[in-house]
Amino acid sequence: MPHVAIIGAGPTGLTAALELKRLGVDVSIFEKRPGPSKLSRAVGLQAHSLEIFKPSGVADSILAEAISFKGLIFHDQARPLAKLPLNFDKGSQLWGLAQDRTESHIVAALNALGVDVQYGARFETLMQDASSVVATVNGAHKRFDYLIGADGVFSKVRQEIDMSFDGYELDKQWSIADVRCDSWQNPQHFQAFLLEHGNVAVVVPLEAGRFRVISSTPDALKALPVPMNVLEIIRSGTFNISVRQVARYQKGRVFLAGDAAHCHSPVGGRGMNLGIADAADLAARIAAGETEGYTATRHAEGAQVLALSEGGRRMIQSQAPLKRFAVKSAMRVLNHVPPLARFAVRKFTNG
Ligand SMILES: Cc1cc2nc3c(=O)[nH]c(=O)nc-3n(C[C@H](O)[C@H](O)[C@H](O)COP(=O)(O)OP(=O)(O)OC[C@H]3O[C@@H](n4cnc5c(N)ncnc54)[C@H](O)[C@@H]3O)c2cc1C
Repeated sequence: MPHVAIIGAGPTGLTAALELKRLGVDVSIFEKRPGPSKLSRAVGLQAHSLEIFKPSGVADSILAEAISFKGLIFHDQARPLAKLPLNFDKGSQLWGLAQDRTESHIVAALNALGVDVQYGARFETLMQDASSVVATVNGAHKRFDYLIGADGVFSKVRQEIDMSFDGYELDKQWSIADVRCDSWQNPQHFQAFLLEHGNVAVVVPLEAGRFRVISSTPDALKALPVPMNVLEIIRSGTFNISVRQVARYQKGRVFLAGDAAHCHSPVGGRGMNLGIADAADLAARIAAGETEGYTATRHAEGAQVLALSEGGRRMIQSQAPLKRFAVKSAMRVLNHVPPLARFAVRKFTNG
């Protein structure tokens, strides 16, 4: 069985390590951070991700803690436009759990299989030939059969294999705030507010009394068109969004997965789920000794998710009066035609 190096212990790298080890492949996983991350970016977990985590038992531990979103509510400023149900069948399931908690469930399963994440281990360079890859980590050279770059959007592995990351950066800065609040409206619903000038604000429940607010403006809390009784701001900040994808996910014995291979806006909440799916697909291929189709399969899926996420973002951020009217009218129609609403929800949750 091969020995695989995994660079990065985000959700993608952790899933790759777990799935490879579960399938009998030796892994070493290196993470430059000194310990587990306390940052939660992704919240939404799709049914497909939980399917991936079923054989390892991680799905059960996640489900014991995750919240099941009751539905999606879209607003025109403060006015409700549409209230759509979630979790009405397998294709419409969406759970919420802070990313650091999802990661800690995967780490626990990995530890149970005898693998420890090597924290404080920074990947620096690599060299490969027909039979192996030599990675330099904290100045030491280590030889592996394969190497997976799951080192996020600024991937050093991607740089080392000279793979261009084509796409564009959005000109607007987005913002995020995680808050405690004891009296939020519809606290178990995922809510989106369409604002003036093509802006948007989204409120996602994280756990009882704790919410994530994201906006396409520099101040997520200020952007909200309805009052939110914030008791504590746990963290807040701004971020820039790029929409990019590599043309090939593999060069020789080196693979890219997750944000190292693709990135897009949080619209649709797909980034982490896509990385988990890349990792599971790649692990199965490496374990089977058949890595050839990895780029074709995962590039196609990634391109589809990028197109869906960008399509959704452009639609809700459009400033053209006619387009905005069409979007709002479509929301109203969804609200009154349940089969259409169910179709739209399935598209939103599973693509
Ligand atoms: C505000 C926001 C909200 C989001 N919401 C959602 C959502 O609801 N649902 C969803 O699916 N996605 C969401 N996403 C996207 C999601 O967070 C990312 O897609 C996901 O974290 C990607 O996982 P990853 O493991 O590929 O990369 P990362 O999580 O970035 O992990 C990469 C790891 O590699 C490590 N690393 C980097 N360089 C090195 C090196 N040289 N040596 C060793 N280690 C290294 C880093 O320290 C990091 O721990 C959101 C993103 C943002 C910004």
